[in-house]
Amino acid sequence: MAEHGSGRVEVHETVAGFRAALEEVRRSGRTVGFVPTMGYLHDGHVSLMREAAVQNDVAVASIFVNPLQFAASEDLSTYPRDLARDLELSGEAGVRHVLHPDVREMYPEPVLTTVSVATITRLFEGAARPEHFAGVATVVAKLFSIAGPCRAYFGEKDYQQLAVVRRMAADLSMPVEVVGCPIVRDSDGLALSSRNVYLSDAQRAAAPALHEALEAVVTAAAAGERNADALRSILVERVSDESEAVLDYAEVVDALTLEPASVIGGEQRVLLAAHFGSTRLLDNVALVTHH
Ligand code: AMP
Repeated sequence: MAEHGSGRVEVHETVAGFRAALEEVRRSGRTVGFVPTMGYLHDGHVSLMREAAVQNDVAVASIFVNPLQFAASEDLSTYPRDLARDLELSGEAGVRHVLHPDVREMYPEPVLTTVSVATITRLFEGAARPEHFAGVATVVAKLFSIAGPCRAYFGEKDYQQLAVVRRMAADLSMPVEVVGCPIVRDSDGLALSSRNVYLSDAQRAAAPALHEALEAVVTAAAAGERNADALRSILVERVSDESEAVLDYAEVVDALTLEPASVIGGEQRVLLAAHFGSTRLLDNVALVTHH
């Protein structure tokens, strides 16, 4: 255990130490708000931490780049890291305990037990990254098991991930209330992401096209457009206007089941992903309309 951020954050490198600290919090009758992250924190992560600190007596976080959710071809070894800065930001956001285990601490043995969530993982990120959600669900199940009863905060930025985590916690009766939090954006609309540091200047300049495309869909739906294909075309055209961007998927889906919609109406979500060079960026927006 070490202390950082003006002595306010306790860093736990062991699972046992973090678990014991949270048990002590609950034993004294206080509630725990937990924010799992892969570190390299930005204002999106900080917003989750602040929410956890506001809604609970004690806010805690984890910083762990989870190898299980990266494919062999992905950026595991180069994923950006800056622990000292992360601990400063965590402390400022009101976090009191951080779990920062190494890979051997989290996975002392080869993993034989994994968690897989059906149907809602099939499309979108699941199609692009076949093993990804099993890796996410498995590490989040471990983290929930380590943290114990708490509220856990996830960003709508990774909308499909939020749906997967919610469903896993409900299906497996985990004593964790999953709370979704709004997307934090840069001033030009680009959703904050640890991976934005990979963008070249030209790619960074083009990247707000994703948010603009989503806003154009919301505007069209508000003006009465009820044809899902027409809304999809708006996304495709706006993104293909950018020579730096290559569209991966663009879809209007049911907000709960993530099934692609043929008709616009009710609670839906517009999901978008595109490549900017070797970097894949995701974005999404709520679409709430009357039939
Ligand atoms: P990561 O470190 O990328 O695994 O993200 C940790 C958590 O922060 C996840 O719940 C993400 O959805 C959330 N998050 C990442 N970017 C944002 C953002 N721009 N706004 C809100 N939440 C975010």
